[in-house]
Amino acid sequence: MVKFITSTFTVLVLTVAMVKAQSPINIADYPPVNQVPDTKSAQVQAWLKEIDLTGAPALPLHSGAPPACPNPPIANECYWTCDGCAGDDITACAAPNTWGLTFDDGPSTFTPTLLNYLKTQKLSASFFLIGSNVIQHPEIVKRELDEGHHLASHTWSHHALTTLTNEEIVAEMKWTEKAVMAATGLRLKYMRPPYGDINNRVRFVLKKLGYIPVDWTGDAFDTNDWRQPTMSEATVIATFTKSLDTYVAGPKDKGFYCLEHDVNNADVTVAQKLIPLGIARKINIASVAGCESDPQPYQAGGTAPMPTTPGTNSTKPSGTTRSGASPSGTGTVVKSSSASTVSLNGLGVAAAAAVVAAAGALLA
Ligand SMILES: [Zn+2]
Repeated sequence: MVKFITSTFTVLVLTVAMVKAQSPINIADYPPVNQVPDTKSAQVQAWLKEIDLTGAPALPLHSGAPPACPNPPIANECYWTCDGCAGDDITACAAPNTWGLTFDDGPSTFTPTLLNYLKTQKLSASFFLIGSNVIQHPEIVKRELDEGHHLASHTWSHHALTTLTNEEIVAEMKWTEKAVMAATGLRLKYMRPPYGDINNRVRFVLKKLGYIPVDWTGDAFDTNDWRQPTMSEATVIATFTKSLDTYVAGPKDKGFYCLEHDVNNADVTVAQKLIPLGIARKINIASVAGCESDPQPYQAGGTAPMPTTPGTNSTKPSGTTRSGASPSGTGTVVKSSSASTVSLNGLGVAAAAAVVAAAGALLA
């Protein structure tokens, strides 16, 4: 009996050890999910020692999610969602006639359904990952990488970055970086600010950490998937169809980045209806790495060899053939020269809401 119990216990211990060994992430090693990480922790203090934040623009912290726009505007803030100033953020896909396919806020339990679809279409996307979700689904992040997608950061807890201190921004970015590195061995290089909420102070801190912000190409390319079910799927599709038709009728000399999500069933379902609209219009589809022809879409210092840049698919008449063209980049990130600003008309819906909120006194 004792022998049976002992052997059963041994099997149990071994099983637990094996399960533990299979997961690349121990959640207990990370901060609480969906909260701004503690900047006093030994880990964050160590990261702060590695960078020099001296000279960061002394802009006041905003409040709200997303924050209301300051009224009057603050000089030299370059606050994308409020004044349309994008600084040196990437706001358009550098490749002509190309849809920079991006999905934010994952990974979620709905992401595998999207991955299955992208695989059938031979498409590569960029996933802007929330660190809090990465530690809960590291296997999905690994799958994204293994299936040729590009990984990027969307912070640890999805708070608006202009509401956080410089040190909190560091904590948000570095914990996410650490989680993705644990899951994949790669160190992220591109990021998207939650709500598109970015100003010159946020940019300063991100640059110190080696990150390149990627906004989206204005209101027309916010798919509004996140508005479902308040906005019907039919309206989401009709609205985006108009945007694509307007784009196709234009010069198409540079591509666009859309705003899409992989958080819930409605997001993932409508994505599978929007993407064919682009394919039918012979618009190429690429990840951020493909759009920017960046052969090194991750920062140095990772523990895994840099993967080949995910390519741009070529929407030939068949619509689903990927060219597999390898990038001829020189290692520099190509940016659209006219991508430094977007007009107020080109703001995201959240941004437009912020403008409306700021103008609330006039409207009331
Ligand atoms: Zn987001």
